[in-house]
Amino acid sequence: MSNPLFDRMLLPHQASSAVFLHLPDGETVTYDTFVRRTAQCANALARMGLRPGDRLALQVDKSPDALALIFGCIRAGIVFLPLNTAYTADEIAYFVENSGARVLVCAPDRSTDLAAVAAACSARLETLGTDGHGTMNTLLDTASEMHDPVHRDPDDIAAFLYTSGTTGRSKGAMLSHDNLLSNALTLVDHWRFTADDVLLHALPIFHTHGLFVATNVTLAAGASMVFFPKFDAGRLIDWMPRATAMMGVPTFYTRLLDEPRLDAAAADMRLFISGSAPLLADTHRAFEARTGQRILERYGMTETNMNTSNPYDGDRRAGTVGLPLPGVEVRVCDADGAELPRGEIGTLEVRGPNVFKGYWQMPEKTAAELRANGFFITGDLALQSDDGYITIVGRGKDLIISGGYNIYPKEIESLLDDQPGILESAVIGAPHPDFGESPVAVLVADDAGPDLDAIQRTVTAKLARFKHPRHYVIVDALPRNTMGKVQKAALRETYRDIFA
Ligand code: ATP
Ligand code: MG
Repeated sequence: MSNPLFDRMLLPHQASSAVFLHLPDGETVTYDTFVRRTAQCANALARMGLRPGDRLALQVDKSPDALALIFGCIRAGIVFLPLNTAYTADEIAYFVENSGARVLVCAPDRSTDLAAVAAACSARLETLGTDGHGTMNTLLDTASEMHDPVHRDPDDIAAFLYTSGTTGRSKGAMLSHDNLLSNALTLVDHWRFTADDVLLHALPIFHTHGLFVATNVTLAAGASMVFFPKFDAGRLIDWMPRATAMMGVPTFYTRLLDEPRLDAAAADMRLFISGSAPLLADTHRAFEARTGQRILERYGMTETNMNTSNPYDGDRRAGTVGLPLPGVEVRVCDADGAELPRGEIGTLEVRGPNVFKGYWQMPEKTAAELRANGFFITGDLALQSDDGYITIVGRGKDLIISGGYNIYPKEIESLLDDQPGILESAVIGAPHPDFGESPVAVLVADDAGPDLDAIQRTVTAKLARFKHPRHYVIVDALPRNTMGKVQKAALRETYRDIFA
């Protein structure tokens, strides 16, 4: 009997009095308490009639019980799907229906809203509260703490993790025990996590970053994490002197930089990691100038967990996502899957034990993106330097084709970001009667504000004419989702008639 994730993540910590979670109010959850709670979860799920392979959907706020429920599913062999807390009832209906979930667990204040969704899918509805109040919390309290984990093979599916829906409808990525475990072990080793680490955890636990990267690395290392309900720069800084590492999205870093107290607090941390969206080279430099810390940027996605990382020792190169992780093969290819020479831009493909088993109930999409030779077509455009560093240039879907020429928005954005008066930018393609598409620059101004004439002169001097934005707009902020990803599809929609 074995259960790969349980055996490696929970079993070694059974009966350990070491702290697993520090809660911001000062309370702690030990490993022993947490592992026993996962047993109660597994028993409660079995008592509800769930069998190995059944699906459980959860849209719950971040709490120790939410995490215990996820690991209870792992013990019980139940496939869990964690859902973004921002999703509306209509959106949840798609996930419950698509996954065939037999149980939907939601926050107590969502139960009225979601009752009809659960009923329409014949799913049982339970509530899980962060304060211990909820129908599911009660079921857990009365369940036994004795539980034999259900046998799972390494290739058995542990979770359906739905993609963020940045480029289209979210897809359910089927992730196996071995997908998750192999990646967590690689990351522990690569980023040198040990039982002495204290990780600042302010990410949501419905996304790969907060769940499979941050939480699994912590468990696999036997480390602890400070479990914040949400990101709050001041509170994170308060905890930095007692912490060793932080994982965050780029917006965490830009917001931390607004805090004068950051500099001294961050100086003694061991490691700052960024991912989920591109970290501006400027942010990387500003963070180092203020704190002496070189942020380690890595790259991954729902379907693969982490693929590349800047090195722990050695050159953490701003603007790049580093080198392929051990065991992960990465190549930059043309549309037919032929590898391109170093330095050329193409689609990034990855292969390794981390690559998912396919999209749930989307055989055509799976066949289109997972090659028979095991390479997964990420949809991201990238180039690799002679010494192996990968730079993500953008998403294939954001590529602008103007008059037959390819325009990579990142090239224009990088130039614009460096101009005085501009905080950040997004360049998108809008339909154009002559060129098919033409670039539009959406700018966020700083307090001084940009001089658009000067900027256009710089653009003219530095970029070929076909790349020049034909329209500039200034906005208060770029639209972003909870993971800090710029929503280019929304921008394209906003400006689609600009050249009409
Ligand atoms: P969907 O696939 O539904 O459109 P999504 O791709 O945004 O949504 P995720 O799996 O959460 O869903 O995000 C993975 C994507 O995030 C990658 O394909 C890449 O475009 C981007 N990404 C992640 N890390 C980085 C990084 N360090 N630099 C640049 N982009 C990154
Ligand atoms: Mg994607």
